[in-house]
Amino acid sequence: MTATFQIPLDIPDVHILSTRSGEKGEFILEVESSLNATTCRRCGREITEFHGYDQPILLRHLPVFGRDVWIEIRPKRYRCPHCDDHPTTTQRLSWHEPRSPHTKAFDAWLVSMLGNSTVSDVSRRCHVGHDAVEGAVNRCIRAKVDWADYTQLRTLGIDEIALKKGHKDFVAIITTLDKNDQVCVLAILPNRLKETVVTFLNSIPAHLKATVKRVCCDMHEGYSNAIKETLPHAHIVVDRFHVAQYYNKAVDNLRKETLTTLKKNLPEDIYQQYCQGMLWPFRHHFWSLDAEQQAQVSHFLGYAPELKQAWLLRHELTATFMKYQTKAEAKQQLDAWKQKVTESGLSCFDKFLTLLETWQDSITNYFEDRHTSGFVEGLNNKLKVIKRRCYGLLDVKRFFQQIQIDLRFARGQSFA
Ligand SMILES: [Zn+2]
Repeated sequence: MTATFQIPLDIPDVHILSTRSGEKGEFILEVESSLNATTCRRCGREITEFHGYDQPILLRHLPVFGRDVWIEIRPKRYRCPHCDDHPTTTQRLSWHEPRSPHTKAFDAWLVSMLGNSTVSDVSRRCHVGHDAVEGAVNRCIRAKVDWADYTQLRTLGIDEIALKKGHKDFVAIITTLDKNDQVCVLAILPNRLKETVVTFLNSIPAHLKATVKRVCCDMHEGYSNAIKETLPHAHIVVDRFHVAQYYNKAVDNLRKETLTTLKKNLPEDIYQQYCQGMLWPFRHHFWSLDAEQQAQVSHFLGYAPELKQAWLLRHELTATFMKYQTKAEAKQQLDAWKQKVTESGLSCFDKFLTLLETWQDSITNYFEDRHTSGFVEGLNNKLKVIKRRCYGLLDVKRFFQQIQIDLRFARGQSFA
């Protein structure tokens, strides 16, 4: 004798008629609805005139003890006495969505399995087809934002990511922070053109639009023009991480040029000992290196006085951005920094200076409340992981759904 015990089915309003095992050891539970009414699909009134049973349908349900479980039910039909030709309506069940091959509980479970995973993996592990997983996603996860979830927006972030490896086609990611300062993805736009961003920003309901105080974004005219047009009262904020990308790159380009020259001019052993392998310590903040790395960088820069000057200016600018100060103070410091660059005679910052000139107001807006899109810190990484994991499989809509799944999964939130 096998020891047995009872577990509740946790499906409301049904009786179990019978249970049996299928060919592969799966459980098949035959159930019947205990409700004796439904809503007429035409007039919307409650109808109770029983018309008969439909053909039985099999629905996948949550597995038990490693075995697949199926619910078998013959849906009840009811006839409407109020409508002219007395149409019949199949009874709606709270635990099943019409035409779904799964119970709602199974859908939610499949989607939870998809957190930090891929459709292929879930398909294999849960013994369901690709389409079944995709179906569950589409039934459980909205393909676009529901504005009813928000009472205010305060800060929006616009950022971008190349959806396909090596592609220059960027998708724009629109984010906000909820009341617990957690990042929420509002949309993934198929490109970063001004018109696309305008269309999205204009889709925000007016009462929410009015609550947008600032938009954090990169120095990209498509964004700033879209924001000025649709949210004229909002401040445009370019956060320090975005600015840093540009001046770091300027200094890094000079590093590459300098290395080429040094390789030609220095004895090979000196070059190998002091100049090679400096990428990591060179790129990092001097103050975050250990003593040995600091000595290495100092020695290397001893061979490259121009690069050293650029490297010092880079650190000075980073320190300015890290310092808590007012917008006016920051503006003064930036002006002083520009002056130093001009006096240095360095040309590596030329492009960056132009950028700084154009965007100075938005850049110094950062100092008002030090807002960032929040994107750079955590979400960016998640998006990159999704991209790597689901390489080539995702369109913009599925990308949006997958990031919602991963964010909920990371926060331990349910999918039911
Ligand atoms: Zn009716």
